[in-house]
Amino acid sequence: MRIGHGYDVHAFGSGDHIMLGGVRIEHDRGLVAHSDGDVLIHAICDALLGAIGEGDIGHHFPDTDQRWQGADSRTFLREIVELVHERDYAVANIDTTVITESPKLAPFLDDIRTVLAGDLRVASGQVNVKATTSEGLGFIGRGEGVAAQAIVLLLGQ
Ligand code: MG
Repeated sequence: MRIGHGYDVHAFGSGDHIMLGGVRIEHDRGLVAHSDGDVLIHAICDALLGAIGEGDIGHHFPDTDQRWQGADSRTFLREIVELVHERDYAVANIDTTVITESPKLAPFLDDIRTVLAGDLRVASGQVNVKATTSEGLGFIGRGEGVAAQAIVLLLGQ
């Protein structure tokens, strides 16, 4: 068994939607990023890489590389899941939390879970996505950005 943790933050900027867990959510702002800014997928990628002792997402997909400009973060996730399987591990379960004041995420959580389960090659029952606010405190509370945390357990095959 291996365990990994991931954390990511992106700031709000101009735009009309955010990408979260591979799902497009209409919003009055976007997230500033080199890729599509999918903060939840980035946290999951770091949790997976952490579990197999492979550094972090910035090491594998540097934001100085033009190939990843505007990239679909699901590409990163699928490649990292492939790496996990190459190491003879599979995801046992994954738990995540997205922290933001807006948009409200409850209506999207089931879709996010389905998308993530597909890319992680597991059943949706092995994936959990929670949403919370920062109760108005700090940079998240001021609506300046979105944070996400992920923890994953891998089982050797
Ligand atoms: Mg990121």
